[in-house]
Amino acid sequence: MSQIRFTALSEIAKGNTPESKNGLSKKRISEIFGQNVFSLIEMKDYLSEGTYLRILAAIKHNAKIDLETTENVAKGMKKWATDNGVTHFTHWFQPLTGTTAEKHDAFYKPSLDVMVNGMENLTAAELVQREPDASSFPSGGLRNTAQARGYSVWDPSSPAFFLDTENGKTLYIPSIFISYNGESLDNKTPLLKSAEILNQAATKVCRYFDEGVGHVIATLGWEQEYFLVDEALYNARPDLILTGRTLFGAPSPKGQQLEDHYFGTIPERVQKYMQDFEQESLKLGIPILTRHNEVAPGQYECAPMFEQINVAIDHNLLIMDIMQRTARKHGLRVLFHEKPFAGVNGSGKHNNWSMATDKGKNLLSPGSTPSENLYFLTFFINVVKAVHTHADLLRASIATAGNDHRLGANEAPPAIISVFTGSLMEEVLTEFLQKGPHVRAQHKEVIDLHIPKIPEITIDNTDRNRTSPFPFTGNKFEFRAVGSSANCSTAMTVLNSMVASQLMHFHQEVDALIEKGEGKEKAITMVLQQYLKESFISIFNGNGYGLEWEKEAAKRGLSNKKTTAEALSAFVSPSSIKMFTELGVLTEKEVRARYEVTLEQYIKTVEIEAIVSADLAQTYVLPGARRYLFEQIQILKGLKDIGLDKAAENSRTDVEELFSCIDDLLGLSKKLTRLSTEAHHGKDLAAIASDFSTKVRPVMNQLRETVDKLELKLDDAAWKLPKYRELLFLK
Ligand code: ADP
Ligand code: MG
Repeated sequence: MSQIRFTALSEIAKGNTPESKNGLSKKRISEIFGQNVFSLIEMKDYLSEGTYLRILAAIKHNAKIDLETTENVAKGMKKWATDNGVTHFTHWFQPLTGTTAEKHDAFYKPSLDVMVNGMENLTAAELVQREPDASSFPSGGLRNTAQARGYSVWDPSSPAFFLDTENGKTLYIPSIFISYNGESLDNKTPLLKSAEILNQAATKVCRYFDEGVGHVIATLGWEQEYFLVDEALYNARPDLILTGRTLFGAPSPKGQQLEDHYFGTIPERVQKYMQDFEQESLKLGIPILTRHNEVAPGQYECAPMFEQINVAIDHNLLIMDIMQRTARKHGLRVLFHEKPFAGVNGSGKHNNWSMATDKGKNLLSPGSTPSENLYFLTFFINVVKAVHTHADLLRASIATAGNDHRLGANEAPPAIISVFTGSLMEEVLTEFLQKGPHVRAQHKEVIDLHIPKIPEITIDNTDRNRTSPFPFTGNKFEFRAVGSSANCSTAMTVLNSMVASQLMHFHQEVDALIEKGEGKEKAITMVLQQYLKESFISIFNGNGYGLEWEKEAAKRGLSNKKTTAEALSAFVSPSSIKMFTELGVLTEKEVRARYEVTLEQYIKTVEIEAIVSADLAQTYVLPGARRYLFEQIQILKGLKDIGLDKAAENSRTDVEELFSCIDDLLGLSKKLTRLSTEAHHGKDLAAIASDFSTKVRPVMNQLRETVDKLELKLDDAAWKLPKYRELLFLK
């Protein structure tokens, strides 16, 4: 009956877990890094000098690529790929499902003439543009089956690469995905547009300080948290398979309370897995550097060195795919869900974000002279102001059904959007308000521990604050509220856009003052001081987890939208639509389409969870519970028969409790099914989402409580679903 669970446990106990067939290479990282990428180095070998220089200009300086160059790149790319044994190619794009999509074609084109063999080829047209059916991807009404045309178009700013899997080698061409009318159907097109508009806005502002700045890029370094579970146990949990999280599960007696997992020794089986997926990633040019245990048992993190924002996001999506595939070779499953287990930490994907000039200057890195400081403070304060102005939109950008469980729970930032500056920066800002730009320099402070042999250390400009959704961490902001399963594009498109919009306003206001005869430095200072006054209420350096902060934030008038259903409407607020359309990042139609897709995804996710909950409760839990109840009744009768009245009385209480749980289970699972159906009746998407959030979810939680109570009462041998203690403590 509970066979799968026990077979899995016995295989694990015997150590019979599959290991990767890939021998780990002992090569140095520098030898394998980027070996499967059509990088600038490979391009030098496979392209003529002229073509190489033109493509370089396109990548570095946004120059347009002409048809002849495209033809030459296609030829060179095909030659490089086939030299490496690659047989197929695919455009690789990011539809609004949040994941990636691909459709493979062979290079080989058979000849119609039977006397002649076909040949391998990649034409310019194939490189540039493909036409997958757009109606089968979510488009929020932009495409339907009768207007299905959609194009994937080559994005030269992200390098092509080949994946080498057991199923052969395929060339991946990173692409955007648009409709016949040019509307964005993906996550990447608006991201690229937002990065470009940020470039224009930030470059103008940089030129107040440095005439020589040519362009500005946004940089992103993500940190990916994830859980690992044994594959055989995973297969015995339909909730994990169907929803990515456990819908039931009583807490393990040992959870994370001893805090012994964080940064602990990585279990051997896990480390083998990590090395394996890292090696694959390094070959694809993903600069993965960091690995460690996270706070919850079974939870881990990996992080690369930061990159230009669009490449960083491509790399994150790619590594999530590699991690999933590699896990299966090791008999493991990786969970990217924001809250796969109740009661222990959830998973996030911290987005470390900054801006850098073509001269290599990080615009969020404090300088050591007052004038450098004004340069830094200009960008710092404009970001804070942007977060202050667009807090609701930033909150909406991370709203998903999964993230709702995480925000405000264990070790995750609350749903209130505020900025942590650190106490040192707070002092600097206060001083700047009073005295203007001549604030004290930001020298690194040195700590002497007075222990001989331990070298002197410098401390950072800020301490860490794990409780803030948007802390400044010395030379970048860390948007910590992004969910672990998210495509960072949504959050980063919003962040780029709101900072771009803010910088444009700033530039206009400063120019207006200069025109009136104000000196440049004075004008900049005056505008920044004004911004700072307005946005001080969004700065919070205390404990974001505390209830006090919720109260204080409410007093300050900051919003606290705890659920996706409440948060999403900010996408279509007049100010959001105005901002996106003015910047040219999204049209009103595109904004509304995305809003619809996100609402639909939310509704579908909660609905699937509700159905799976009710189903598992009735078909997995109920039969065992009834059998157990029957046995308990027999025992009770037996005790009475032999006159053990006191024992019979205790036993009767057990039976009654058991009966009441079973009764609740039946009632709640029926109610859940009914409410899920009723939620759809005659309403618009926002109202349906709200019903799922306020009516369906609470009943799902009650059902969970009941099932978890039963888990603690019933005979372990009769419990089908692997328990938290088994899932979380992987050996
Ligand atoms: P933490 O200590 O917060 O866990 P990690 O070392 O795991 O930090 O990750 C920090 C991330 O921030 C890395 O990906 C790193 O490359 C990135 N980062 C550092 N500087 C910048 C920057 N200027 N812009 C964007 N990301 C950056
Ligand atoms: Mg980290």
